[in-house]
Amino acid sequence: PNSTTTANRQSLTCKTKTTDKRDRATVEQDIDPRTGMVLFKMLNRGIFDDINGCISTGKEANVYHATKDDGQEFAVKVYKTPVPGFKDGNRRIQRDYCFRRGYLKHNPRQMPKTWAENEMMNLMMLKAAGTRCPTPIFLRQNVLVMEFVGKSGRAAPCLKDANLSEAKMRECYVQMVMVMRILYQKCNLVHGDLSEYNILYYEGSLHIIDVSQSVDLDHPLALYFLRLDCIHVSDFFENNGVGVRPIHELLDFIVD
Ligand code: ADP
Ligand code: MN
Repeated sequence: PNSTTTANRQSLTCKTKTTDKRDRATVEQDIDPRTGMVLFKMLNRGIFDDINGCISTGKEANVYHATKDDGQEFAVKVYKTPVPGFKDGNRRIQRDYCFRRGYLKHNPRQMPKTWAENEMMNLMMLKAAGTRCPTPIFLRQNVLVMEFVGKSGRAAPCLKDANLSEAKMRECYVQMVMVMRILYQKCNLVHGDLSEYNILYYEGSLHIIDVSQSVDLDHPLALYFLRLDCIHVSDFFENNGVGVRPIHELLDFIVD
């Protein structure tokens, strides 16, 4: 690797908030030289001035917290090449490979870039439909810079960790059902991975994230994914004391 990439990698590693050495090593490994270059160019262009650390490391993406000198905060989502997960039997990756429109002839190297593009397009559609979600800000290759949902470096909790009262939970269930309906009716999309993990609770409202794998309604499995989303959402709220509607009623409401 050339010196700029190395320097950039070091700064990303040093500034990460994880203290465990093994975690740090993972974070460093996860930034491949090409991605390091993309991030370095973003720093140079002044998209942001600092990358402060890793918010989340997942199988398909890492999310970093970045700031501008004026205090503005960003979430930087870096999509990773999926090949290892695919071989390990990661269902979501396999599903993407096999079923996603245009990827029947798959090219693993292009997948992270495609996910980043999908996420940006879908977030734009969600925003346009009036749904709360991070505003996409800048896209380059496999890296998407978006609005940070949270404050002072603290990401908003996901719904699972939000510790809500039963009354507030009930309110969130209604919000959730409305979001699914708007997604379907106005955006012609099915989230496809909707759960208490992909909803952030911030300033009293739900914010939808992780829409890189969302599918259009003309996708052959759109209704199947919608049903799964409904089941996951219903299960979560039911387990938290909310009296939920039966799945078929929920589906009817979303689709009609
Ligand atoms: P993954 O594919 O790894 O699940 P997600 O988009 O769900 O990727 O992001 C993983 C985690 O990163 C989220 O659970 C959340 O904690 C954090 N995160 C993602 N986007 C944002 C954002 N815009 N603002 C704040 N935190 C975010
Ligand atoms: Mn997620």
